Amino acid sequence: MKDKKEWGVNTKAVHAGVEPGPKYNSVNPPIYMSSTFLHQSPGKYFEDYEYSRGANPNRNAFEEALCSLEKAEHCFAVSSGVAAADIILRTLSSGDEIISGDDLYGGTHRLFSKLCEPAGIKVSYLDLNNAELLEKAITPATRMIWLESPTNPMLKIFDIKKVSEIAQSKHPLDLVVDNTFCSPILQNPLELGASVVMHSTTKYIGGHSDLLGGAVLTNSDELASKFKFFQSAAGAIPSPFDCYLMSRSLKTLPLRIDKHCANALEVAKFLESASGVSRVIYPGLESHPDHQLAKKQMNDFGGMISIELDGDGDKAKKFCSELELFGLAVSLGGVESLVEHPATMTHWGIPKKQRLEVGITDSLVRLSIGVEDSKDLIADISCALGL
Ligand SMILES: *Cc1c(COP(=O)(O)O)cnc(C)c1O
Repeated sequence: MKDKKEWGVNTKAVHAGVEPGPKYNSVNPPIYMSSTFLHQSPGKYFEDYEYSRGANPNRNAFEEALCSLEKAEHCFAVSSGVAAADIILRTLSSGDEIISGDDLYGGTHRLFSKLCEPAGIKVSYLDLNNAELLEKAITPATRMIWLESPTNPMLKIFDIKKVSEIAQSKHPLDLVVDNTFCSPILQNPLELGASVVMHSTTKYIGGHSDLLGGAVLTNSDELASKFKFFQSAAGAIPSPFDCYLMSRSLKTLPLRIDKHCANALEVAKFLESASGVSRVIYPGLESHPDHQLAKKQMNDFGGMISIELDGDGDKAKKFCSELELFGLAVSLGGVESLVEHPATMTHWGIPKKQRLEVGITDSLVRLSIGVEDSKDLIADISCALGL
């Protein structure tokens, strides 16, 4: 039998962390809906299992499976993507500084501005592909660089390897990559020099828009012991049932990601030729400014597309409402296609000036391409564009 670390992604997705049920030989593990576990004698309990905030078999199984796919030594599952960001940020203290990419998930931006800044942690935002700017921005107080790639919603690609090299050349600091948009199937940031990876498992990993979850992964034993402490001490843990659902979803993750990517490329190509659309942003298109970098850094180009429509914000909102197969909702990464209007939905909380600077105009629309038949998605878009 091959070493489990050498399994391909499909085998890992189906088998990693999976043990049959102990009593009836069920193929799937039972869901351990138990807040507490019996001690054999006072102070002596079975493996890690004393109280479910500290450890639960379904959570451990999910963490082991995600470790395998993300090629990480340690994984900590929490109750949402924002909770994942929160336990990473708890490693900082007053006086520390964060350098963040300039296009960021709205909820992470809110954590930075409303929780970190008031606690004395300074955050600066910049284009991390500008090496000169980045080198200048790193001060002795810089403890962390935070990036998403592709970014949300502008789908900019940051060069993770290069950022990590610049980061390490100054003094040790942590490079955190929010890998939600890629899932572990499209890119493994720890292999590119990141020290921490986080996911909102609500998105592609959960994949069916029926749960919220988050995960933090690292190869550093030192960071892992901090995350383990915060996971239990801050207490934002997922339920055993949600952990079971996430484990179940992981099994089809590579299959789903393949279909998301194939559909997105077809839809993006159609949009590029459609009238009424002034700009199509998709890393898989030759016209994308970071297309070559995306080709090098990612295994495929993902399921997210942003477009700019001819006309004003009202025209963009009308387009969103007229789509029928695409649900009008925030979130992404589910089997069903969704559409949203960043200026009034996901990114309304970001000051308008800053929003426009990164390109989130009123006529920008973001599409999360699902796993339906691409011809039906294209037909729906054609209708909504009035073609
Ligand atoms: C959704 C999302 C988050 C936050 O995750 P929740 O599960 O909603 O808390 C963080 N980062 C990115 C890139 C996201 O898309």
